[in-house]
Amino acid sequence: KRHPEGRALRAEVDLRRVARNFARVREAAGGRGIWGVVKANAYGHGAVPVGRALSEAGAAGLAVSSLEEGLELRQGGVACPILVLGGLRPEAVPAASAEGLTIALVGPEHLADYARLLPDHPLKLHLKLDTGMGRFGFLPSELGECLPALGALAPWIDGAMGHFATADDPDQGFALRQRRVFEACLAQLRDAGIHPAQRHHGNSDACLRGLLGDDTHVRPGLALYGLTLVPEGRALGLEPALELVAEVARVKAVPAGTTVGYGRTFVAPHPLQIATLACGYADGYRRDLGNRAVVGYRGRTYPVVGRVSMDYLTVALPVDVPVAPGDPMVLFGSDPAAPHCLERLASALGTIPYELTCGLHRRITRRFF
Ligand code: PLP
Repeated sequence: KRHPEGRALRAEVDLRRVARNFARVREAAGGRGIWGVVKANAYGHGAVPVGRALSEAGAAGLAVSSLEEGLELRQGGVACPILVLGGLRPEAVPAASAEGLTIALVGPEHLADYARLLPDHPLKLHLKLDTGMGRFGFLPSELGECLPALGALAPWIDGAMGHFATADDPDQGFALRQRRVFEACLAQLRDAGIHPAQRHHGNSDACLRGLLGDDTHVRPGLALYGLTLVPEGRALGLEPALELVAEVARVKAVPAGTTVGYGRTFVAPHPLQIATLACGYADGYRRDLGNRAVVGYRGRTYPVVGRVSMDYLTVALPVDVPVAPGDPMVLFGSDPAAPHCLERLASALGTIPYELTCGLHRRITRRFF
């Protein structure tokens, strides 16, 4: 569909694939409850439609990074539990309570404020433990001195969680150490009379690689979108849910020697057709994909030539290929074997598929089916 302003760039998100990926991940996770991670606009896929689809597929809840992201889901009509992973300032507790959000308690800094606020503004807390990620969470070394204050919050503590730093690493040594730290922290909590009903430490890779211990829940993100960086993910049959499609805006035939784009980094070696697509780095199509990536068009792929500019990129096709304005070309493909699939594009850039999908700008029309 053409955007009202004439831009013809869309992310097509197949929610049926999201639901099938959900079912596969749930099976890999041994039927544990699933917090579907939909932070950063569902990794660029569209938080509200994806959140609804996951909720309908049976997710225990959805995880977001901030209060704002949680409120966006609520305003979009998502009624299931929502866990705010990044913690919450005490001033925001009343708003979060009013919307029924669950909050990760990410450190000792606001314990007294929470104890004061929660009787009037109840909400569920998930205690974040820093088992080795070195980011959010109570360190094991500080847990002991916090136990009295945590005891006062016990009626609201519904979960305990950690996060793996190396679940994708073939060497599971550090991940297993994190699991041991997690179990030790849980034992310490139990001894103090704190019994979180939910325990979750696993992201996608932990689900795929059996690092779940006796957790009750998991928190996958990437795998739900059908993307994976570990062989176990492909073996599971995960299906990428997103395609980025741009219509051809203009086509021109150019003679050999024509240069294309800023810096003249591409010179036509022979007569060619240059198709200009209305997608650029402002949309999240990375500038360094110029002269490196291909796009899909009618079952074949063609190179992105010249530099990617802010709003446009250029594709070279042989002169005998029929191509016309309005024709759709696939920039991010949903076939995991295609050279323009997200994993391969990310790897060519020395990054991860998360960064490419999360970078898709809000101005891109998202279409769900
Ligand atoms: N849990 C937390 C705290 C996260 O930050 C993330 C993602 O970064 C996830 C779970 C989901 O991770 P993944 O997308 O690798 O499954």
